[in-house]
Amino acid sequence: MNQLTKEQFASLIAFNSLINKFKLNRDVKITLLQIDEWYQLGITQYEAINSTVAVGEVPKRLSRDEYFIRIAQVVAERSTCSRAKVGAVLVDPRTNRIVATGYNGSIKGSPHCIDVGCMMVEDHCRRTIHAEMNAVLHLEHNYDILYLYSTHEPCAECFKALKTANVVKMTYINRYKDDVRDLIRKELEDESRKTKKT
Ligand SMILES: [Zn+2]
Ligand SMILES: [Zn+2]
Repeated sequence: MNQLTKEQFASLIAFNSLINKFKLNRDVKITLLQIDEWYQLGITQYEAINSTVAVGEVPKRLSRDEYFIRIAQVVAERSTCSRAKVGAVLVDPRTNRIVATGYNGSIKGSPHCIDVGCMMVEDHCRRTIHAEMNAVLHLEHNYDILYLYSTHEPCAECFKALKTANVVKMTYINRYKDDVRDLIRKELEDESRKTKKT
């Protein structure tokens, strides 16, 4: 039987769940009902310490950004190119609704890279339409403002298409080096600074 009083037992578990919360960087929730049950069952101090995480762990709720990025990762799984799997999600930030998705794939009627191999020109596969471009093409309406969530940073051509579709925020997981895109982005930023001043 427990040597501790019920109150001591409860505070011990509360303390350990707090430690586990920091160790795991997750929310750990122990209900009063669980504590009561453990106490009634005569679970020892040692068992209580070790069971707090297993019994009381509550999965953290995804942030909105994580939610859309995870969806972009799933969209990427549909890619037909063997070189890279890219997924893109366009979101209307006023409603937080997904308005289009896209992955890199062949155009209608042409074979898939995963079946026939990539069409390599200057170290890039040229057969596919990029994920972001596909997402823009799949938009059913024009939007004043959109957010992009993608597995990869957009290339120059996609960046231009996204900007023309009024994408104001781009969140991605992997960086992609593209000097042309960086030039275009810098010029845009310089222009917007100028217009703000005047
Ligand atoms: Zn390919
Ligand atoms: Zn691209």
